[in-house]
Amino acid sequence: MDCIFCKIVNGEIPSKKIYEDEKVIAFMDINPSIDGHVLLVPKKHYTDYKELDDEIILHMNIIKKEIADRLMEKLKVKAITFSMNYGDSQIVKHVHLHLLPNLIIKSKPEMTVDEVYNIIKPEN
Ligand code: 5GP
Ligand code: ZN
Repeated sequence: MDCIFCKIVNGEIPSKKIYEDEKVIAFMDINPSIDGHVLLVPKKHYTDYKELDDEIILHMNIIKKEIADRLMEKLKVKAITFSMNYGDSQIVKHVHLHLLPNLIIKSKPEMTVDEVYNIIKPEN
């Protein structure tokens, strides 16, 4: 399969690894959004978060905490954001979690909370 992250997993493409076990790998993002931008990637090819099974979700969650602790301690930051893109914002179609130390997301909503709530609230 022509997947860039599968190639990183099997060593065909080099990466700056910061963690690896039998199920997951974490490495530096090649085009970081912020200092310390790391990607946590399951070794098995899952296209997106909807394909992930409970076992790998649990494992990624455990490892996510370990890596986040290391990033925050070593980079001496007090904040971290986790994000997983899906749909048009997911460029690499091999699921991955972004770990973004010290990233503060500030964007301006266009609707009021009530307007959005009326659209997304449960129907009954
Ligand atoms: P997405 O938009 O799919 O959530 O993010 C994909 C991320 O993968 C981007 O932040 C991009 O910089 C990173 N990326 C793409 N190709 C490579 C690569 O070959 N090596 C590494 N280390 N990161 C990559
Ligand atoms: Zn893949």
